[in-house]
Amino acid sequence: MTETQKQAELRPAAWGLELADWTRVVAELQLPTFRAKQIWHSLQERLIGSWDELTLLPANVRRELAERFDVAALRVREVREAADGVRKLLLACRDGELIESVLIPAESRWTLCISSQAGCAHACAFCASGKAGLSRNLVAGEIVGQALLAAHWLRRAAPASASAAPARTPPLRPQNIVVMGMGEPLANYDELLRALRILNAPDGLHIGARHITISTCGVVPGIRRLAEEGLQFELSVSLHAPNDSLRTHLMPVNQRWPLAELLGACHDYTDRTNRIITFEYTLVRGLNDQPPQAQELIRLLRGWKCHVNLIPLSPVAEFAGQAPEDRTCEAFQQALEDVGIATTLRRSRGRQADAACGQLRLRRLHQPA
Ligand code: SF4
Repeated sequence: MTETQKQAELRPAAWGLELADWTRVVAELQLPTFRAKQIWHSLQERLIGSWDELTLLPANVRRELAERFDVAALRVREVREAADGVRKLLLACRDGELIESVLIPAESRWTLCISSQAGCAHACAFCASGKAGLSRNLVAGEIVGQALLAAHWLRRAAPASASAAPARTPPLRPQNIVVMGMGEPLANYDELLRALRILNAPDGLHIGARHITISTCGVVPGIRRLAEEGLQFELSVSLHAPNDSLRTHLMPVNQRWPLAELLGACHDYTDRTNRIITFEYTLVRGLNDQPPQAQELIRLLRGWKCHVNLIPLSPVAEFAGQAPEDRTCEAFQQALEDVGIATTLRRSRGRQADAACGQLRLRRLHQPA
């Protein structure tokens, strides 16, 4: 069965409707307008599991809604927790596809890393998500649902996991969203933006636009389209290499949109939006972590309004590379900072939870049935 046939058999996911959509639906059902907000709140805050729980609506309306919309597009299949407090959620879609979200605690907040596709077509060398290829795009309800389920899971799991929580326990909802999980978000542009509008909506989770980051491997048409939207979301671009030959080796997408084209689109994006782009650069021992590569990167980025995140490689079974030693990472960072390029050296988190992109799903796909 093709993806389109599978999707056609499913009712639309209620989590993917905006308040304006519910206003239209209640008008079609000849209900007063205030019913739209009641439905929206029940989906966003109470996380109802069935239309029958919405007892403030007449039974015939609940039946009608049940015939037209699926109330939940995902369910939690498995939660893994690492000693550093990172939680990885393996989620099952209605058609059996598995996707992942990762909750990362900091002192006073939770960051939620969400997926935009089931699998990924781009096959970056050190990413488990790309290993099994792309299954399909997620619909907006499946993207929104990851945040709703994470918030719900945090509220329910709080007492049991208190011992593993950091000293200052963050509030029980994600404050930051990074679309950096499985999939290439700009390859699923329309559903992604619909989902982000819902997550940003004042009557919903209300996650500030500047607390939502879209991370791309370098899909140039998507970057150009995003520049025209006038939105406040943050943009992050995975670079991982300072020249075309190494980048093509690590990221096949570079053959389609090489560095000059990618950085040209990034320049235009910052000119157009006046916003800073964050470049992600995973440091791999002996491959892209040496002084010559730092100098190449400096030649690309010097004088830009940008930020560079340096991330020592998180080990994945599918890639033979290793993380550099700390002093190598620090020397790389220092070289960039010496010429005024703002840089953060990040640490991988959640290793025991298989927290790097796609690892938990890949383990499940490879498990015997
Ligand atoms: S890093 Fe992102 S774009 Fe690359 S294969 Fe993984 S999910 Fe896809």
